[in-house]
Amino acid sequence: MTDSDCVLIAGAGPVGMTTALALSKAGIPVKMFDALAEIPADHRASTLHPSTLMLVEELDMTPELLRQGIESPLFQWRDRTTDRIVAEFDYRDISDVLTYPYALQLEQHKTIEIARDIALSIDGFELYRERELTDLIQNDDGVEITVQAPDGSRETHRGRFLIGADGGRSVVRKSLDIDFPGFTWPERFIIVSTYYDFEEAAGYRYRNYVAHPEQWCAMIKVPGEHSEGIWRALFPAFGDAPDEHVLSDEWIQARFAECYPYDPPYDLVHRNLYSVHQRVAASFAKGRVALAGDAAHVNNPLGGMGMNSGIHDGLNLAKKLEEAWHGGGHEALLARYDRQRRPMAEKYVQAQSIANKRTLQENDPEARERRLKELADTRNDKVLNRAYLLRASLVQMVQEADAIE
Ligand SMILES: Cc1cc2nc3c(=O)[nH]c(=O)nc-3n(C[C@H](O)[C@H](O)[C@H](O)COP(=O)(O)OP(=O)(O)OC[C@H]3O[C@@H](n4cnc5c(N)ncnc54)[C@H](O)[C@@H]3O)c2cc1C
Repeated sequence: MTDSDCVLIAGAGPVGMTTALALSKAGIPVKMFDALAEIPADHRASTLHPSTLMLVEELDMTPELLRQGIESPLFQWRDRTTDRIVAEFDYRDISDVLTYPYALQLEQHKTIEIARDIALSIDGFELYRERELTDLIQNDDGVEITVQAPDGSRETHRGRFLIGADGGRSVVRKSLDIDFPGFTWPERFIIVSTYYDFEEAAGYRYRNYVAHPEQWCAMIKVPGEHSEGIWRALFPAFGDAPDEHVLSDEWIQARFAECYPYDPPYDLVHRNLYSVHQRVAASFAKGRVALAGDAAHVNNPLGGMGMNSGIHDGLNLAKKLEEAWHGGGHEALLARYDRQRRPMAEKYVQAQSIANKRTLQENDPEARERRLKELADTRNDKVLNRAYLLRASLVQMVQEADAIE
């Protein structure tokens, strides 16, 4: 075996890392490169859906995920204008098709760390940090990438295939000249966290979507750095209000007070403001290079589908590359990967995350009542409830993708 007998992966986020682990467990050498020195602990994904828990079982991550995460079978839709719980869904209602009848609340960086620690124990897995992919070229035999260190020095590496798991601004996708159509929401999202316990105070579950015509929000509980339990809230920040204003204690306290009046002020642990996009790459593969995760599709976080569907991409792709590694025929296999995963990103992840946001923010009173009633009716009808949970858990998406030839 030569140095270039490996799969190259750009990006050691949750998608890159779980994909690397799947390939390594299959005995395929992996060289992984990430621009950052460390795994960022910023507030991003917080939920592993039941479908993802089932898929990562074969990676041996489950015991540690379950040890660190919080089981969350229930999630709520609320209406703040009438202060009511519109619908409370329960994953246990579809426990006949789930190995784990709950979502697992766990910070994204911990999921990455768990995958990394297992991967590092496998011979043939190499992780290079502070190596930013800047260029790639490919031919019939393989791919050559250039990575740059912080001091500006450059190295080249070769592999049989390259996976671009380098996030929404993917250099891999841009280098392949693959279009990334879609749109950016006009409002930005602000994510903040507090130790204040909304379950105890107001009967929130660990995942809650709270509708309101102007100030809708999502409230999510995660374990916290020392399993102390911490609540994250996601609020919209409209117009061109300066960053300092919407990131100020005063602005955030006012948003929290709308969710639940509390005095003295909430303790604020973390805050971050960001723009949100809905985009799907025009192709998930070109030649010997494939995209997965945010490099291939981005969406708003309502419903917690970005990281989950990205991990589903990566594990699907790992199976295709394992087959190509042993038997060749990568063109057909990567074309099938594209056929299986790209339409699913549109049909489930884009459609559901956009619908979730529209329900939360609807400001026409009639339309708003209709949307909320639909949710309540869905919850109260056995057949509709089951169909909704199969979609929300992403189980249906995985089954449908796998059935595509
Ligand atoms: C506030 C918020 C809440 C969210 N909540 C959820 C949730 O509950 N559930 C859910 O499923 N999703 C959620 N998401 C989405 C989720 O965080 C993303 O979908 C997920 O991070 C995508 O993983 P990834 O590995 O594809 O990309 P990323 O996590 O972006 O990782 C990309 C990696 O590539 C590296 N990189 C970038 N460029 C290069 C380069 N040129 N060379 C080498 N390395 C490079 C980066 O350093 C990074 O480590 C949320 C997102 C946000 C912002």
